[in-house]
Amino acid sequence: MPGVGPKRAELLQKELGIVTVGDLVHLYPFRYIDRSTVVRIADIHPDLAQVQVKAMVTKVRLFAKNGAELPPEKLKFNVVSRMSVMVADDSGEMEAVFFKGVKWMYERLRPGSTFIFFGKPSVFNNRLNMVHPEVDAPDNSNSGVLTGVYPSTEKLKNSGITGKVMLRMMGTALQEVLPVVQETLPDYILKEKGLVPLTFALRQIHFPVDQNALAKASYRLKFEELFLLQLSLLKQKYVRSRNAVGLKMDVVGDAFNACYKSLPYDLTGAQKRVIREIREDMRSGHQMNRLLQGDVGSGKTMVAVLSALLAVGNGYQACIMAPTEVLAQQHFANISKYLRPTGVKAALLTGTTTAAQRREIHAGLEDGSIGILIGTHALIEDTVNFWALGLAIIDEQHRFGVDQRARLWNKGYRQIPPHVLVMTATPIPRTLAMTLYGDLDVSVIDEMPPGRKPVTTLCVGEGKRHAMHNFIRDEIAKGRQAFIVYPLIFESEKLDYKNLELGYEEIVKAFPLPQYKVAIVHGQQSAQEKAFNMDAFVAGRANILVSTTVIEVGVDVPNASVMVIESAERFGLSQLHQLRGRVGRGAERSYCILMKGTKVSKESQKRLDLLVSTENGFELAEEDMKLRGPGDLEGTMQSGLPISLNIASLAKDGLILNDARGYAQHILDRDPALSEPVNAPLAHELQRDKYQTKDYSRIS
Ligand code: ADP
Ligand code: MG
Repeated sequence: MPGVGPKRAELLQKELGIVTVGDLVHLYPFRYIDRSTVVRIADIHPDLAQVQVKAMVTKVRLFAKNGAELPPEKLKFNVVSRMSVMVADDSGEMEAVFFKGVKWMYERLRPGSTFIFFGKPSVFNNRLNMVHPEVDAPDNSNSGVLTGVYPSTEKLKNSGITGKVMLRMMGTALQEVLPVVQETLPDYILKEKGLVPLTFALRQIHFPVDQNALAKASYRLKFEELFLLQLSLLKQKYVRSRNAVGLKMDVVGDAFNACYKSLPYDLTGAQKRVIREIREDMRSGHQMNRLLQGDVGSGKTMVAVLSALLAVGNGYQACIMAPTEVLAQQHFANISKYLRPTGVKAALLTGTTTAAQRREIHAGLEDGSIGILIGTHALIEDTVNFWALGLAIIDEQHRFGVDQRARLWNKGYRQIPPHVLVMTATPIPRTLAMTLYGDLDVSVIDEMPPGRKPVTTLCVGEGKRHAMHNFIRDEIAKGRQAFIVYPLIFESEKLDYKNLELGYEEIVKAFPLPQYKVAIVHGQQSAQEKAFNMDAFVAGRANILVSTTVIEVGVDVPNASVMVIESAERFGLSQLHQLRGRVGRGAERSYCILMKGTKVSKESQKRLDLLVSTENGFELAEEDMKLRGPGDLEGTMQSGLPISLNIASLAKDGLILNDARGYAQHILDRDPALSEPVNAPLAHELQRDKYQTKDYSRIS
């Protein structure tokens, strides 16, 4: 391409992954500058993005590296490291700073002359300044009203590929591309959805004539991106549901009914709905691949139990896999209670199961006398064989690796994979779930069991530690219990957060025996020690449980009314939310106290404020995604799914995503294989590498 020699070509590839002219025109501006507005210096503050001012040069000074001021004669000798240019308009004064190209700028910026300075304002030594602003003659006002700003890197800028150069290259590239570009969406879609043609969109996304054209261009490109992604995922799902044979489970069965009738409470509407969805899947003859989302405490365990009983009632076995030993034990204890009226036998298999017990369990699984196996990942070891595994339930899926899930898949009955139900309390925003799990079915429990008391959340500093202790004493006096959670076990030397051991000592001092009993649980303990301490707290023998985040998932102690989180700023939002979910399960009013350290970044403070402001996990997740961007979300990183969107944003474009998904479904309903001639462009697009993903359902 004219204007791109071998050097630039290499740089573009290395820094931005751009190889072809096509790649280049698909690099869109991430924002636009309105160069039609000139700001008064008095109105500038350092939080603003780039601005332009029209100002007169009042004073120019040169400095050496050591800070000494230099006379202009020194310009010849390459000893000037910084040039300070004071500029003023009638509202105020500002400094422009240059480190490079000083000689040329010095000649240009004569005191008394006026220029347009364009750059990002900041504050240095209490003075408003702009480092390396673009300088233009005042009458040479920029013609385009909106100017695109492209992603760039230090290297690119240092090698002279500035914003201006980028714009020039883009202009050239568009000249080459636009005459030959193929429309990617069929005509009827453009008409039905009111989308502008691709050529228009490409031109306007780079060089918008006005806001309106830009909006149309951006909408078309976002819609196309999300639509094709959904189309590819839904098409895979369609193929799978046609091909993947599943165990057909026709009856509800006595076990299910016996358990259901003896429940101590009514299921919530959401629980009932989800169980119906699961039942439909399990009797469809296709394999179920369902993701069950439900906030902490929404009652997922009950759904798991009843689903497992459906499998058992049809003559199959079920397994429930939990991420930690403690949780597996608690599941086992709870579920055994629910199973009592059914006569179904459950077993617990974890890393600490003895060899003798293990043999017995293996035998029971192989002859079918054990109906439901509960355990940690120990239950997917190769030595574990089921007589007829019909349903695998995975609790808190993000803690399982891809390999582990795949192994479970292979434990089916006569080569038919078990139905799979994955449960998660990590509230994945709907938009993200649709993209990540576009080919999975998603059920949501969006209703809490009745009688749950809201949790009051406070965020306090070190000064309130004493008050916090007193508060816990009051709660203990009322017969309640408290969790105190620390982010780490051993203090890292660099970071100043409280370590668990010190914290424990402090707590034991503040809550002495015999009046108070404090239990401690952390990752370095043996399983027995952990279980002993945990049991003491669950059974109410200990008033306080000091722990690391091992209690994060699933543990249920309804009598606990206080959750103290130390160095709360160190935790991620979803982790904090999960921890808070440990309280508020009983009849009493509950509290979550976020203890924050002295150095809390703006970002962390926002997280803490968010947590104080809402208890709704999905709302939190949406907000969190807006704060951080979707790539970062817990649970998505581990899943290793590449969701690199070029223009659409999962955080902001939820509405477009919804529409795109519905529309993709609508098209597949009419033409599932995309084999009709009108849909040829779509079939062609889906051949691209980025849509040739693995079958996600198999790894989820
Ligand atoms: P999670 O979704 O976090 O796994 P659990 O299944 O542990 O939630 O349920 C939390 C608590 O709510 C448990 O004590 C459980 O017995 C109780 N529970 C579940 N469903 C209901 C319901 N429909 N009505 C009342 N309590 C319920
Ligand atoms: Mg749970």
